[in-house]
Amino acid sequence: MIQDTLTMTIGGKAASADNHLDVRNPATGQVFAAVPDAGAAELEAAIIAARAAFPAWRDTPWATRAAIVNRIGETIAANAAELAAMLTREQGKPAEQAQFEVMAAAQWCQATATLTLPDREIEAGPGRRQVTRYVPIGVVAGISPWNFPVVLSIWKIAPALLAGNTLVLKPSPFTPMTVLRIGELVRDFVPAGVLNIITGGDALGPLMTAHPGFDKVSFTGSTTTGRRVMESAAPTLKRLTLELGGNDAAIVMPDINVPETAEKLFWSAFTNSGQVCVATKRAYVHDDIYDAFRDELAKLAQAVPMGDGSQQGTALGPIQNKPQYDRVKGLLADCEANGYTLLQGQAPEGEGLFVPVTLVDNPPEDSRIVQEEQFGPILPLMRFTDVEDAIAKANDTDMGLAGTVWSADTASAMRIAERMDTGNVWINEGLALSPFAAFGGRKQSGMGAENGIEGLMAYTEPKTFLVAG
Ligand code: NAD
Repeated sequence: MIQDTLTMTIGGKAASADNHLDVRNPATGQVFAAVPDAGAAELEAAIIAARAAFPAWRDTPWATRAAIVNRIGETIAANAAELAAMLTREQGKPAEQAQFEVMAAAQWCQATATLTLPDREIEAGPGRRQVTRYVPIGVVAGISPWNFPVVLSIWKIAPALLAGNTLVLKPSPFTPMTVLRIGELVRDFVPAGVLNIITGGDALGPLMTAHPGFDKVSFTGSTTTGRRVMESAAPTLKRLTLELGGNDAAIVMPDINVPETAEKLFWSAFTNSGQVCVATKRAYVHDDIYDAFRDELAKLAQAVPMGDGSQQGTALGPIQNKPQYDRVKGLLADCEANGYTLLQGQAPEGEGLFVPVTLVDNPPEDSRIVQEEQFGPILPLMRFTDVEDAIAKANDTDMGLAGTVWSADTASAMRIAERMDTGNVWINEGLALSPFAAFGGRKQSGMGAENGIEGLMAYTEPKTFLVAG
C-alpha cells in the first residue's frame, strides 16, 4: 500500500486519519499516492479548532488579516514549481496550465488582500448616529471541485479569512493533494484553527453541510450536488454560496474574422479538456460563415497535442476521473447512435482517461449534447440565420453561468449580451475572470457571487448600530 505523503491541517497542526484514499494519475490510470480519509472524528476536531479560533481572528485588525492572506499568496508563488507538478500529476492538466492555475491562486490572494469593506454611515436624524458594519459570519465550510482544485479553493480561503471568518476546507477526493500541500506550507504563519484543510471520500461533504457547527457553506460543484447541499443546510439555515454547473452558449455573428475567432473560441471550449465551469459548451454560428468556421475549428482539433500533462508540448490532458470519463463517453456514444457528424482530433491509447477533441456538426437542439453539460472536450455547433432565434435558444435552459458573443460590431454584440440570462457575458473573449469582478451563476447555475466586493460581502453579514446622544 502507498503511504500518505501529505497531512491535513487541523488546529494549525498536521493531522492524519485511520483510513486512506488513493490518488490516481488520470493520464496513466495509476495510483501514485494516498491521502487521509477523514471521518466524523476528524471533522469534529476541525470544527472545534475553527470555532475556538474564531473570536480572536474576528477581532484581529483587518490589515493584519490582509497581510496573512497576502502571505498565503506569496507562499504559493514561491512554491509554484512544486505545486504545479503535483497538480499536473493528480489533475491531469498540462504543466503550463498547472503553473498558470497556481500563479492565478497566488494573484487572487494578493488581489483579494487589497479589498476593504468600510463601515457605512446612514443618516439617522439630529443627535443620532447610525452605522452599518460588515461583520464575519463565523465558521465556514468550503467544498471545492476537481477541475481547478487550487484556484477554486483559494476563491474561498482568501475572502473568508480576510472578512474574519475561520474555515474548514475540503477539496475533491479526486484532487486532494495540492490543496493539502498548501495547508502544510502556510501552517506556520496562519494562526492555529483559522484555516483547517481536511480530505475525505463521498461521505465527508454531506457530514459537513449537515453539521450545526458551521454557519455558512461555500460550495463549488455540480448543480445536482448543489441542490443536496441546499437541502442539508436548511435545518440550521446556514448561509450559502453555490457555484454550480453551466451550459454556456456562444453566439458567433457573421462579421467576425473566421480564423482569429475560431482559435479564441476553440480555447474557450477546450481549455482543460472542456472541464471548465465557464467553458463554451454550445456554439450557435451564423449560417453565412458556419462551414468556414467549423472547418477552421476542425483543423485546430486535429492539430492539438493531447497527452500526459507532464510531457513537454502537451496542450490538452485527460478527463480527470473515471465517473466523468464514463459520462463524456456516454454523450459521445449518444451522438454516434443518433448519426450526428463528428469531427475529431487524436487521443492517446492506453490506460489514461483520454477523449479526443470532438466537434458535433449541427446536432438537433433537443439532443443530449446540446441540452446537457458535457464537461469534456466535445463541442456541438449549431447553425442559425436569425439572431433572435439564437438568443432564445441560448436562454432556453435552466443554467445561467456565462456566455459569449463574437462580433466585429461590439455595440450590437453588447445588445445581445444584455439579453443573455447569465451571470457573466464576454464579448470576443472567453474565460475572462478577475479577482475584482463579481462572478456567479443565474438560475440553477448557482446562488450568490464569488470574487470582488460582492464575493467578499458574501462572507459577512450587515450589522447596524444606532447611537443616540
Ligand atoms: P461535484 O458536485 O461532484 O463535487 C464537488 C464537491 O462536492 C467535491 O468536493 C465533492 O466531494 C463534494 N460533494 C459531493 N457530494 C456532496 C454532498 N452530497 N454534499 C456535500 N458535498 C458533496 O462536482 P465536481 O464533479 O467535482 O465538479 C464538476 C462540476 O462543478 C461541474 O458541473 C462544473 O460546472 C461545476 N463547477 C462550477 C464552478 C462555478 O464556479 N460555477 C466552477 C467549477 C466547477
